[in-house]
Amino acid sequence: MQSFAQYADWAYLIGAVLFILTLRGLSGPKTAIMGNRYGMTGMALAVLTTFFVAPSPVLGLIVGAMVAGGAIGIYRAKTVAMTHMPETVAMMHSAVGLSAVCIAVAAVLHTGIHHDGVHRFELFIGCFVGAITFTASVFAYGKLAAKKWAKTIKGGWVKPVQAGLFLAMLGFGVGYFTTENLTDFYLMTAFALAFGYVWIAPIGGGDMPVVVSLLNSFSGWAAAGIGFTLNNPMLIIAGSLVGSSGAILSYVMCRAMNRSLLNVLFGGFGATAAVEEEGDKKEKNYRSGSAEDAAFLMSNADSVVIVPGYGLAQARAQNAVKELATVLKEKGVTVRYAIHPVAGRMPGHMNVLLAEADVPYDDVKEMDEINSDFASTDVVLVIGANDVVNPAAKDNPASPIYGMPIIEAHRARTVMVIKRSMATGYAGLDNDLFYLDKTMMVFGDAKKVLEDMVKGVTGGGH
Ligand code: NDP
Repeated sequence: MQSFAQYADWAYLIGAVLFILTLRGLSGPKTAIMGNRYGMTGMALAVLTTFFVAPSPVLGLIVGAMVAGGAIGIYRAKTVAMTHMPETVAMMHSAVGLSAVCIAVAAVLHTGIHHDGVHRFELFIGCFVGAITFTASVFAYGKLAAKKWAKTIKGGWVKPVQAGLFLAMLGFGVGYFTTENLTDFYLMTAFALAFGYVWIAPIGGGDMPVVVSLLNSFSGWAAAGIGFTLNNPMLIIAGSLVGSSGAILSYVMCRAMNRSLLNVLFGGFGATAAVEEEGDKKEKNYRSGSAEDAAFLMSNADSVVIVPGYGLAQARAQNAVKELATVLKEKGVTVRYAIHPVAGRMPGHMNVLLAEADVPYDDVKEMDEINSDFASTDVVLVIGANDVVNPAAKDNPASPIYGMPIIEAHRARTVMVIKRSMATGYAGLDNDLFYLDKTMMVFGDAKKVLEDMVKGVTGGGH
């Protein structure tokens, strides 16, 4: 063990380079698998190195934690449904936050390091960022999994309570930093836990994507803070990479929604969206047709653009949509996919689904790439998408989502929408796209409807 310890810094350095290569690989679908492999290798190297440099009395605990963590991870990876990925990711962020808190408490109780001012500062930051990440991620999990207890809170009392909790957390943190008083440390942690929940709970509606990626970033910063406490360069580097890439992703998602980060976090927009719509519901007419009608129209089109949304994931219809695209291409139709950055329930959700079905990467276009093509597109097929194709974002200044960039499906010659009813999407807003003269609603579960469309295109014999 001792002889290995002298090489530990080298092993950590190689691990850090592998993590950087991971991020590079994950930046494009073609290189993502390689990126994942770099990540797995880097992580294995980091865990093994830590194991070999750890003092012998804790080796049993490390092995126990590795076996338990590995077993839970493998079980979860094998059993989680694609539709439950977003809440699983949120839950994982909460685990990172909780471990940061546990490590900080352990460091305060069992080591002397908190007598040093610099270490106290790291503990202070690492612990409160970890505590906020923990409770905020638990709420995000509940919200994404549609749990009853994860209710969006609203009211005039929210902002003063948020401010009060934040100031109390900061006050006790400063108290701990200056006096080494452990009661202050525990109170700071308790207020940070409460603040995390009250901070995230008012954010509802369409703003959850930013919250999810921001919590990802926070979990990285919490890990980096604890890396300083434990004097572990690997944790500092990995935490900083996660923290900064999550922060960049949050910024990109805010831009995709035309919002500022401060506005998302303290504007409370999402919570008001559904309410503002309620009184506005009028009887409006829409047209509906069968999967066979839709198949006929698509077979005779030159170009079809498919817009997938959360309903595609919910129906597990990714293979069915690939099949439809294949049979349409065989008929000479140009088929492409248009991806909105916040479609689905987690960053990259649609890309992951389409990749799982082996959809060719070149057919998959980002929103900015394809929006200018809609005017010359014969048919847009919207599958279980709603908010990301809502034209109110472009032409209704009174709409809560006004200004958010959307996939401009309404500009195509014909629009077809597969969904089960006229129900609203995540943001709780009605969608004028469904009531246009050129729109045909095809009601049903996305997978079943797509399978019927395939039969319609192939004459039932495919
Ligand atoms: P939406 O949630 O706006 O709409 C999804 C639609 O799918 C619903 O209207 C629903 O209608 C339909 N649907 C659900 N199940 C099925 C099914 N089995 N078959 C057919 N249709 C189905 O989804 P979008 O992807 O358009 O937008 C994503 C929303 O989620 C945005 O508001 C975004 O801000 C938010 N969000 C995104 C996150 C991210 O990171 N990407 C994270 C958290 C939230 P019906 O019930 O009638 O079938």
